[in-house]
Amino acid sequence: MDVLISGAGVAGTALAYWLRHHGFTPTVVERAPRMRASGGVVGLRGEALDVLDRMALLERIQQLNTRLGACGDGDLAVLRGELIGLLCEATRQEVEYVLGDSIASVEQDPAGVRVTFERGRPRRFALVAGADGLHSHTRSLAFGPRERFVRHLGIYTATFSLPGHLGLPGSDRLPGMPGKAADILGIRDDAKAYAALHFASGPLAYDRDDVAQHQRIVAGQFAGEGGPIPLLLAEMSRAQDFFFDANAQVEMCHWSSGRVVLLEDAGYCAAQISGLGASQALIGAYVLAGELAVAGGEHPAAFAAYEREMRGFVAEHQQIGREGADRFFMGMPAQAPDVIATGTRETARTHLVRLKDYAPSFAARWPP
Ligand SMILES: Cc1cc2nc3c(=O)[nH]c(=O)nc-3n(C[C@H](O)[C@H](O)[C@H](O)COP(=O)(O)OP(=O)(O)OC[C@H]3O[C@@H](n4cnc5c(N)ncnc54)[C@H](O)[C@@H]3O)c2cc1C
Repeated sequence: MDVLISGAGVAGTALAYWLRHHGFTPTVVERAPRMRASGGVVGLRGEALDVLDRMALLERIQQLNTRLGACGDGDLAVLRGELIGLLCEATRQEVEYVLGDSIASVEQDPAGVRVTFERGRPRRFALVAGADGLHSHTRSLAFGPRERFVRHLGIYTATFSLPGHLGLPGSDRLPGMPGKAADILGIRDDAKAYAALHFASGPLAYDRDDVAQHQRIVAGQFAGEGGPIPLLLAEMSRAQDFFFDANAQVEMCHWSSGRVVLLEDAGYCAAQISGLGASQALIGAYVLAGELAVAGGEHPAAFAAYEREMRGFVAEHQQIGREGADRFFMGMPAQAPDVIATGTRETARTHLVRLKDYAPSFAARWPP
């Protein structure tokens, strides 16, 4: 049963792993000409660590931890690129990756989906999964324009690497810049460091592929600021791994439409500031593939179960994202409280989804 995954980020590569594990045949199409194994530090928490354990990747990820006890007990903070590198390595032998292409159209019929591509020849798949991020093209094709689903939280963030800590403060948020913040995170004994620059702004119009324009926007926002900012801006213009995007959330009534399903940022982004995107991506991929396996590939039942399992968890993560934004506007560190009151007891906010054991039974039953 062929499944097309659009996007080779954390969600797309993890979904490819789990689909293959359950006997499906995933193909991943990635718009960039090579894997986008860059980005700053992303948090891994709660059940996401359990998912990595089930992939036999936990030990290796723990070795890549950039700082111990990142947010809470056992939580990890790793470089996005290193996480994607591991997920890719775990799937490369058995999964077809098509780089430098993008879905152009999807046409569903009772038996499958005919997909045309910007470059490649048209192909048929049983299902299409959109894991192509906050600005998901799959979502636009199957559900409608982004304006209907994407809610801007009023903050933009740029991340980039620094060649060492440059004598800058540790991981502290630099104070004294109303509506702006800078995080500098030294990793691996400060041999390397990452900077994150955040600024408050309503929605901005820009070309999402024009990195030089993004850097001009950030430089303009921080122009005239003192302290380490001029040095950071100089490093930003040299960085090869600069990433810039809005802090926004995706709110949808349904994450599937017929044979097309969305995951993580494409379908339920909690916003960068939540620090939960990578964890949510790993868990969403595990649950989606598992429910498809349990349902023997019957997508209506599987997609309904996927939503049932994930909805409450995602709602809580999105709440954490909104609280992170509020804290930014109040000039506080981004970290949100780790526990919530559920009924009579407090529950760790990251333990809101219970991972089922999905036996790899699908292959044995396919074709039905
Ligand atoms: C290069 C990069 C750097 C990042 N850096 C950080 C960071 O420093 N801190 C942080 O908190 N978050 C960062 N993020 C976002 C973070 O990775 C996600 O929020 C989170 O991991 C959820 O992952 P995702 O797989 O849903 O989306 P993403 O990680 O955004 O991955 C989506 C993938 O889909 C691909 N894609 C987009 N459009 C198409 C298309 N039309 N066809 C095919 N493929 C497409 C993208 O190139 C990308 O590889 C970054 C994302 C990217 C792409």
